[in-house]
Amino acid sequence: MDRHFSKFLESNWQRHHIECHYGWLPLIRELHERMLELDPKYQIQQVKEKFGVLRFYFSTQKKDSFAKMNELVSEYESKSGHMCEWCGDPAETRTENGWMRTICDDCNEHVWSNRHDIKLWKEGEARLFQKLLDKKIIDSVPE
Ligand SMILES: [Zn+2]
Repeated sequence: MDRHFSKFLESNWQRHHIECHYGWLPLIRELHERMLELDPKYQIQQVKEKFGVLRFYFSTQKKDSFAKMNELVSEYESKSGHMCEWCGDPAETRTENGWMRTICDDCNEHVWSNRHDIKLWKEGEARLFQKLLDKKIIDSVPE
């Protein structure tokens, strides 16, 4: 991960503008870079998961770029429906008890299904972080 993007993430994360799991970071990064090309001064309002897919809210002063930027955002929101929110592997959006999420089988088995068992969940999380490090999606294990 390059320093510029790390800094961007750090500041937006701290201000709670980004609320989703790490698997979508590569998607967010690519979208952010393409948005900068259209308007270097655009602002992120919020990035989060909703109904299992990415939601990316932004503002721009460049009225002539707005439609194009909106289109780009839609494109990436659609892409997120095929990418595990936890690890970035290929995945499909699934619904369970009315809860929608885009998660791969591996993360579903080792992370999601262990969410009520703190010990198992910690193991699943450690496994996930190792995967994210191996794929260079994160530089270090978050505190
Ligand atoms: Zn996954």
